[in-house]
Amino acid sequence: MKHLKSILLVAVALLVTVGLSAKPKIRIIATGGTIAGISTTSASSAYTAGQVGIQTLLDAVPQILNLADISGEQLVNIGSQDMNDEVWLKLAKRVNELLNKEGYDGVVITHGTDTMEETAYFLNLTVKSDKPVILAGSMRPSNAISADGPANLYNAVAAAVSPKCRGIGVLCCMNNQLLDAKTVIKTHTIDCDTFEGGPSGIIGYIYNGEAHILQTPNNKHTKESVFDVSKLEKLPKVGIVYGYANASALPMQAFVDAKFDGIVLAGVGDGNFYKDVFEVAVKAQNKGIQIVRSSRCPTGPTCLNSEVDDEKYHFVAALNLNPQKARVLLMLALTKTHDWKEIQEFFLEY
Ligand code: ASP
Repeated sequence: MKHLKSILLVAVALLVTVGLSAKPKIRIIATGGTIAGISTTSASSAYTAGQVGIQTLLDAVPQILNLADISGEQLVNIGSQDMNDEVWLKLAKRVNELLNKEGYDGVVITHGTDTMEETAYFLNLTVKSDKPVILAGSMRPSNAISADGPANLYNAVAAAVSPKCRGIGVLCCMNNQLLDAKTVIKTHTIDCDTFEGGPSGIIGYIYNGEAHILQTPNNKHTKESVFDVSKLEKLPKVGIVYGYANASALPMQAFVDAKFDGIVLAGVGDGNFYKDVFEVAVKAQNKGIQIVRSSRCPTGPTCLNSEVDDEKYHFVAALNLNPQKARVLLMLALTKTHDWKEIQEFFLEY
């Protein structure tokens, strides 16, 4: 009896020790990008994104094994210029599975930088979990001199294991900084210091493998989001029309003819249309195609009822979303409603 008691005590002690020392379970999903890119020579600017697989990415930064119990999977291996709705749906479903069914504590997604902000925002609206979801990429290919991928991946894992990164939505981790999915923008074509959080700035930073959070987002995201893609096989079709002096109405008309469900204007100034484009947009809205006004200006909101009378024409103002993110929200909004007023509400909330 005494013997049995001590065996039990040892077993309990062992379980507690293992439990206490167990590292957070983090899954890394690789999708390609420059972080998985290879250049012809280490000093050359010519390279191809999405060449090496998940194991090569993990092998380049063995230090992540000190932070977490790491496992990886390859979802796709593409340059993020080829990112599409199909991969987004697959990715959102997989992240939800990992966090809500398979017991993972966080997910890191390696991704090209070109469309990272769009993927981050899509996940911000479709992942149903408070657990950290962090996107990381790089501006230099994996075999470049001073490749930035390994440090970005290490920092992303440090963010994914941090309780401070729970409940603040999907984040991007680049160049030692943490950026919020709604505000993050790629600002420079080639520099490592390319991501910015716009006027609201970065959300935090990583220093010595620790996440430091400076502010939290005030828009709805993740668990508070009403958008559910779990049963969707495709998304509504939404295109973007760019504004410029003497603009042609042909692109807007082409989207109408191709029966797109929505069109986002990357307008001039405060989301203004060239007159010919405006005429097509009014007719499109009358046919039930939703029109969202955003701006080609890098900063500042596209305001409701400013130079354009949105109430009169039933247009939606993108407010603080740039055209590419307004497209993401409009696609998801169209899975719920075709009422422009309800869509405008979504733009106020998300
Ligand atoms: N074109 C690359 C991509 O987005 C650029 C990068 O990853 O930095 O996949």
